Amino acid sequence: MRRKLIVGNWKMNGSIASNQLLLQGIVAGVKNLPHADYVLCVPYPYFHQAQTLLQHSNVAWGAQNLSANEDTALTGSVSPSMLVDYGCTYVIVGHSERRILSHETDDTAAARFNAALKAGLTPIFCMGESKEERESDWTEYIVGRQLDSIIRRFGANLLSKAVLAYEPLWAVGTDTPATPAQAQEVHQFIRKRIARCDAEVAAQVRILYGGSLHPNNAKAIFAMPDIDGGLVGRCSLDAQAFVKICQSIQ
Ligand code: PEP
Repeated sequence: MRRKLIVGNWKMNGSIASNQLLLQGIVAGVKNLPHADYVLCVPYPYFHQAQTLLQHSNVAWGAQNLSANEDTALTGSVSPSMLVDYGCTYVIVGHSERRILSHETDDTAAARFNAALKAGLTPIFCMGESKEERESDWTEYIVGRQLDSIIRRFGANLLSKAVLAYEPLWAVGTDTPATPAQAQEVHQFIRKRIARCDAEVAAQVRILYGGSLHPNNAKAIFAMPDIDGGLVGRCSLDAQAFVKICQSIQ
């Protein structure tokens, strides 16, 4: 039985003052919700604040990206061991916004995935197709290629130490979530593709859905057999909305 997982992705939002209320609201709201795991991926400058406010709670914290390198001349980058220093346990890898805006490729995402695992972090590896790709019936080709970029390099076995996230680009940051059936179809495809290499890993790996998750649609999406929780963007910036999404699992 896979334990559900809800991850908040704050993206480039927050301030010391507003984070305080948000973190306290989320901690209070999920403290009596023992049936799932919770993670907040915050911007780098707020790690210390997240660590201080979350360390005695049932909410873990993580990052939204990491360098694939350690201790080197890479101005502006943050290494895996720096995340570990701040008690991070998760890191998002290959988010569509980074693939599009920061020229992340399958190769660079795979290198970050590997670096995260080597540092003892759990990568949350994002995959998803654009609207045009879906309309051209390329969803399985695109998602399959992104998944294979990890399996081919490292083997399916390493996926047992990771979390996967299906995030259709047309649903991220829009008001057009996938329907539960659309999301389930792709999650099932991902699981079956992993099962071709390793049935045990396929049965145990958590696959999250992300893209316009909201208190109104979370319950139906989380009820799908291959959906193990969610990656939540905008609604993770509102404690009440995020907690409602978490409650829809109970
Ligand atoms: C995300 O940032 O990964 C995301 C899913 O955003 P939103 O929930 O706002 O669509």
